[in-house]
Amino acid sequence: CGIVGYIGNTDAKEILLKGLEKLEYRGYDSAGIAVVTESGVQVFKEKGRIADLRSVVDETVLAHTGIGHTRWATHGVPSHNNAHPHQSTSGRLTLVHNGVIENYLGLKREYLEDVTFVSDTDTEIIVQLIEKFVNDGLEVEAAFRKTLMLLKGSYALALLDNQNEDVIFVAKNKSPLLVGVGSDFNVVASDAMAMIQVTDQYLEIMDKEMVFVSKEKVTIKNLEGEEILRAPYTAEIDA
Ligand code: GLU
Repeated sequence: CGIVGYIGNTDAKEILLKGLEKLEYRGYDSAGIAVVTESGVQVFKEKGRIADLRSVVDETVLAHTGIGHTRWATHGVPSHNNAHPHQSTSGRLTLVHNGVIENYLGLKREYLEDVTFVSDTDTEIIVQLIEKFVNDGLEVEAAFRKTLMLLKGSYALALLDNQNEDVIFVAKNKSPLLVGVGSDFNVVASDAMAMIQVTDQYLEIMDKEMVFVSKEKVTIKNLEGEEILRAPYTAEIDA
């Protein structure tokens, strides 16, 4: 169970795969990445090892933004369909999640009666809920915030919007997540170990904050929408 993300100027898929390899020691049953390409967000995922995931990733895919995940199944068996990333019905939104959403069945019943689900995970309701609120007329940021206010349980999240490739949306509650700061790139990691090769500067993220990670800046807000200023710390890990 781990999360990585990268937004910058170089080959995102390689940084994501290397980051996931660093998290392998934590244990997992499936893995996946999503990258933003010219033709939209592309997802590669597989049950099994990172080596299995590598074998299904298109080597020629060119992307400078992406997210990755190792899954420790809690809802739904280890399988291709239950592996993360998960996408909304339109394909616009793509999400990775660590943790457990305790009220996912209630949220599904209340808001998502008409939606066809492709996985058995609690995670899929999060991405479908954000899309539902976008379809109702909200901007992605507002839909993300509204969804976070409804979730009960633990989560570390990273979200891509294929209509806005300049940002990775991030949030956490009771699950670990950090944002790493680079010179012309930024990263996301559930554990600094995953990205210590590319930066040793990390921003701590507090429960129930939303973070907007772009190439040049990181904006942290609370759920009231107020911006929070925070300085990075230096992570000391022998890599
Ligand atoms: N609850 C989610 C699932 O079962 C995420 C599990 C995890 O933390 O990897 O897919």
